[in-house]
Amino acid sequence: MCGIIGITGSPYAAKECYLGLMMLQHRGQDSAGIISFDEHSNTFHTERDMGHVKEAIREDRLQELNGSTAIAHNRYSTIGSKRNQEIQPMCMNYPYGIAMAHNGQVSNALTVRKELNQKYKRLLLSENDLELIMNVFAEGLLIQDIQEIDPNKVFKAVEHVHKIVEGGYSTVAVVANQGLLAFKDPFGIRPLCFGKKEGSYAFASESKTLEFLDYTEIEELKAGEMVYIDQENQVHRRINSTAQAKPCMFEWIYFSNADSTLWDINVYGIRLKLGQLLAAQMKGKKFDLVVPVPDTARPAAITLSEELGIPYREVLIKNRYAQRTFILNNQKDREKAVRLKLNVVKELVADKDILLVDDSIVRGTTAKHIIALLKDKGARSVTIASTCPELTSPCFYGIDFPDKKDLISALHNPSEIAKMTGAREVIFLSEENLRLAFNGKSTCMACINGDYPVAVEGEEFIKSRIEKNDHLSWIN
Ligand code: SF4
Repeated sequence: MCGIIGITGSPYAAKECYLGLMMLQHRGQDSAGIISFDEHSNTFHTERDMGHVKEAIREDRLQELNGSTAIAHNRYSTIGSKRNQEIQPMCMNYPYGIAMAHNGQVSNALTVRKELNQKYKRLLLSENDLELIMNVFAEGLLIQDIQEIDPNKVFKAVEHVHKIVEGGYSTVAVVANQGLLAFKDPFGIRPLCFGKKEGSYAFASESKTLEFLDYTEIEELKAGEMVYIDQENQVHRRINSTAQAKPCMFEWIYFSNADSTLWDINVYGIRLKLGQLLAAQMKGKKFDLVVPVPDTARPAAITLSEELGIPYREVLIKNRYAQRTFILNNQKDREKAVRLKLNVVKELVADKDILLVDDSIVRGTTAKHIIALLKDKGARSVTIASTCPELTSPCFYGIDFPDKKDLISALHNPSEIAKMTGAREVIFLSEENLRLAFNGKSTCMACINGDYPVAVEGEEFIKSRIEKNDHLSWIN
């Protein structure tokens, strides 16, 4: 999972990208980068490095990122991200000069890599799926007459990407001296929205980023949609999909900021509903306090407490300088981070039966440590309620759970998970109630029901992803 931005028609494109990246920091903390295109000197300018936005991009370098078009990226990945060649955005010199950034994952990466290598004799320089998409897009241009290109040819190149590259991906790209392009995969799995401001146009992974930058008329791109803004600032659009959109439900449950709206559905509003629906599953159960795991679970815990008539207390106090645990690279780091991350207001928990609300239970690490913390401070019992149903299948579209053995619910039932985590009971929102929260809107729920909208390449691919998750970067 990553955050991406693309801006054109603004004299401050790179600066706006920088501010936008700050607003999307929660979507990726491993590296950050901006590439601008300077139409006067016909040059790409690049600033990118490992770490948070503040570390990766020097503010004093922004004035050197000239040009009215820029793209930017915050990266969320694994150990391989420490290799500099994995950092996005990336660029290539032919044809025209292309810079690109993406959020998502390619689910037939082995096939695409092989084809680029064997058929088109392209040597790929990174393990990053973006390089696959960028090279296939370049091939999509090259199979046409490219002495001159126009929106139709650019869209045909994207259609070529759609034909060859499977998975969940949202992409922004600059074609040098031609225009800014944005597109989604044919199922629209990963988010990307579009906004306008006094002659400039912008794309971003989350709507609140565009709002913050004063863009208006913000709309989510449709599944398979491509938008191209040419040199004359004319907007061209096309949709290359008849499939039903399958946006990732986990964006609302966990990943997106609460003040964002995806596909016209507000994230905070969904989280409130999840709490109400969980409460309906828990009638008759007795607790002294409802406690959220900060921050994502707060809205659901509030409505749960209202519905059950049990006091809501924020007794887990977050160390705001610790990283999100789910986003850290390996199990050892994650365990350390949980201890760093939270303190307990012990005066409030002594002798209390606590209903702890979390957004999801992935590996069980966070739940186990928080329950131990609460009990250590005197809580009589802790029941945990998850606003996400049991995660039982890996995600191959860009979220960091490629291996079934990392998913506690894939291997254990709720009573076993209760024993393993020290909880009195573990309660998951039902899949039926999750669907109710979305009020009929179709979403990807493959990680909870195994119903993958896009085929996954097979055992060899899955094995390679798991191995790369240990050693190299592959999630974006
Ligand atoms: S499998 Fe799960 S996490 Fe992955 S895209 Fe689908 S809903 Fe999101």
